[in-house]
Amino acid sequence: MRKRQPAEPYRIKSVEPIKLLPREERVVRLRRANYNIFKLDGADIYIDLLTDSGTGAMSSRQWAALMLGDETYAGASSFRKFEKTVREIFGKRFVIPCHQGRSAENLVFTTILEKGKFVLNNTHFDTTKGNTLHKGGIPLDFPCPEADSDDPLPFKGNMDCIRLDEFIHARGSEQVAMVIMTITNNSVGGQPVSMANIKETSAICRKHNIPFYFDCARFAENAFFIKRDEAAYHDKSIAEITTEMFSCCDGAMMSAKKDGLANIGGFITLDDEELYHRLTELLILVEGFPTYGGLAGRDLEVLSVGLHEAMDYDYLDFRIDQVKYFGEKIKAAGIPIVEPTGGHAVFCDAGKLLPRIPPGQFPGQSLTVAFYIEGGVRATEIGSLMFGGIDSETGKMAYAPRELMRMALPRRVYTNSHFDYIAEAAEKIVAGKDKLRGFEIIREPVFLRHFTCDLKALNEETVFVDT
Ligand SMILES: *Cc1c(COP(=O)(O)O)cnc(C)c1O
Repeated sequence: MRKRQPAEPYRIKSVEPIKLLPREERVVRLRRANYNIFKLDGADIYIDLLTDSGTGAMSSRQWAALMLGDETYAGASSFRKFEKTVREIFGKRFVIPCHQGRSAENLVFTTILEKGKFVLNNTHFDTTKGNTLHKGGIPLDFPCPEADSDDPLPFKGNMDCIRLDEFIHARGSEQVAMVIMTITNNSVGGQPVSMANIKETSAICRKHNIPFYFDCARFAENAFFIKRDEAAYHDKSIAEITTEMFSCCDGAMMSAKKDGLANIGGFITLDDEELYHRLTELLILVEGFPTYGGLAGRDLEVLSVGLHEAMDYDYLDFRIDQVKYFGEKIKAAGIPIVEPTGGHAVFCDAGKLLPRIPPGQFPGQSLTVAFYIEGGVRATEIGSLMFGGIDSETGKMAYAPRELMRMALPRRVYTNSHFDYIAEAAEKIVAGKDKLRGFEIIREPVFLRHFTCDLKALNEETVFVDT
């Protein structure tokens, strides 16, 4: 294994101190939080890998752009700049700003979705699924078969085009409100989608006359994978690849908290003029006037710069490699991971690491707790705590297909030595893994239980690896 990753392609101009609390204090705080890491405060955490959303570091150019924010209610110059940027990058006629990804989804589904109609996706992100259900739609996933494989194949985020086409034929295209491609495919591990697959999906949608949209939070990371791993694109720039990707869809919704390199923001971009007018009517009701859409002028300035910076080849090359490097280190420490690593996170397979802890006792949570106690690191369980529970249809207990733990990497925030530090904590956890025990839920809400539930350690003494 390589000794170190190439050095960061930036230097640090402003620092934010972080502090590792003493181990005993971490234990106290975690007990107080009933072993739910969402209930810890930011100040309790040393390295926070809970999410890559809205947690990136802005560049000096973005901080400078902030001061140019035009806070004019209607027709602000900051909006004109933002509109021009989005049109240039994505090639669509209309640009609707909104405050984050889920508000874009809500606007789109409220406007176009009729009850009982299907929304088909390579894999719905949870808010996309939630917003579809909320409007009476039926969200269905068509991940490619390789998504479940243990082999490190490229483009595991792809759509299963055969099943997609069969489904549309069987149900009739008038039953399908929209096909969405999530790039990268967040829910299967930030895995990318190939250009070939985008084109094939687009052709199916055109054939059946169904609107085809992107959920494109990580479009630049996806474009990088296409350049790196798809033979015809090695010599194309990220901008050219992005243009080609978006020439295949009718529009897109974006959470700009990811590849917008901003702490807040989102947008819809599309060609359909009639739909644009319907969307902006609703936008004015729920988000704001069409030239700010729930954002401040300064946010729009920051996004105009961030969208371009996210497409910088050196930045992307470093970022995707940093995720890979971190994954290699965690694997070398003895924790099985999902391979290949995707664009924004490393997924640890807690089910494989801790086979003696049954899914109903949440091995992913045991590993999450161990990382906090051992290193002050916050990760998140992506297993039966998040996806399991009593199935509303069968009344039986359901479990997630895999017991995972996700460590998401904020953009431009942590240096390589932070990841080396986490890998050392991983080694200690692996050395003491036989001592780890499971958890039991003692209180849970009806929806999205992982955010707020309380847990009890099945054996207090053995929760904490101590080597
Ligand atoms: C984050 C995300 C969203 C939701 O965006 P928010 O900005 O968190 O509201 C939607 N889709 C995908 C793929 C995402 O990663």
